[in-house]
Amino acid sequence: MVDNIRELVDAVKTKGAKRVLVQVPEGLLMKAQDILDALEAAGVRAFMSLEPCYGACDLRDAEAESLGCDLLVNVGHSDFGVNERIPTLYFIWKVDADVKPILEKEYEKISEYKSIGLLSSVNFLHILQDAKAFLESKGQRAYIGKGSLLEGQVLGCNVSSALVVDKNVDAFLFVGSGHFHPLGVGLRIDKPFFVLDLERGVLERPDYTKFLKQRYAALALARDARTFAILVSAKPGQHFVDPTVIKERLGRLGRKAWVFTMDRITPDKLLGVNVDAYVNTACPRITVENRGAFRRPLLNPDEFAELMRSIEKDAGVAA
Ligand code: SF4
Repeated sequence: MVDNIRELVDAVKTKGAKRVLVQVPEGLLMKAQDILDALEAAGVRAFMSLEPCYGACDLRDAEAESLGCDLLVNVGHSDFGVNERIPTLYFIWKVDADVKPILEKEYEKISEYKSIGLLSSVNFLHILQDAKAFLESKGQRAYIGKGSLLEGQVLGCNVSSALVVDKNVDAFLFVGSGHFHPLGVGLRIDKPFFVLDLERGVLERPDYTKFLKQRYAALALARDARTFAILVSAKPGQHFVDPTVIKERLGRLGRKAWVFTMDRITPDKLLGVNVDAYVNTACPRITVENRGAFRRPLLNPDEFAELMRSIEKDAGVAA
């Protein structure tokens, strides 16, 4: 049984920190007081941020600095190289689960595939080896790819663990919980895609038709747009593209664009902005999960690139 709080305290002590700001994902907020108590009991002055924490991209480092902290503790995520203003500890919160009974019960659904790529979110990665052993015991090949993240790990903004084994597999199986991580993969690959949900105890093939339809509708509407708002998040790890490059590319096609920054990108902040379409340069989940809530078509950078290619092709312009 994993004792996450004890391991977290040990990791903070190893860093020699005296004063820390801790940030946790929403699902761990019920542990907030226990974490603070354990740190204080170990002689570490500890604060907890109650701002939402979406990932390792979402560092409350300015808050930590203003509180005079010598360490920021980002719980539940793994380091993927964000520029930090103060030393940061990424603490992976492991969740125990037994994958075998679910695989036994649901195996028929994936038995026809000879070779399967296994994926997960960071808190369940340790379970992938059990899934691999199970599939191999059935005579299948199982791959756990290593892209730019940890082995088998996927994020909504990074599915490199899937892409590196894509050519070797007939299907992918995501093992974990929640719907966003699998959605990120499911929309980016062409292979049959299954999700083993450890919380619900089921294995199923999700239907992402609704999201694909929303995507095509947004692309079609944005084709006629003359004015664009380019949306930039202040979160330090969500700067995936340079907004000025997007602005200049639009300008070359006679489109007008403005760059707007905010911490969390939400539809209400755009109520006073009068444009025909938005380009989201930050977390792709904002677009994928919430596209319908925005008044104008909202595109992620890859969708924007697709739009530009088609407009440039029609206009006879080189990209
Ligand atoms: S998917 Fe979004 S929230 Fe998750 S790490 Fe990427 S940018 Fe951050």
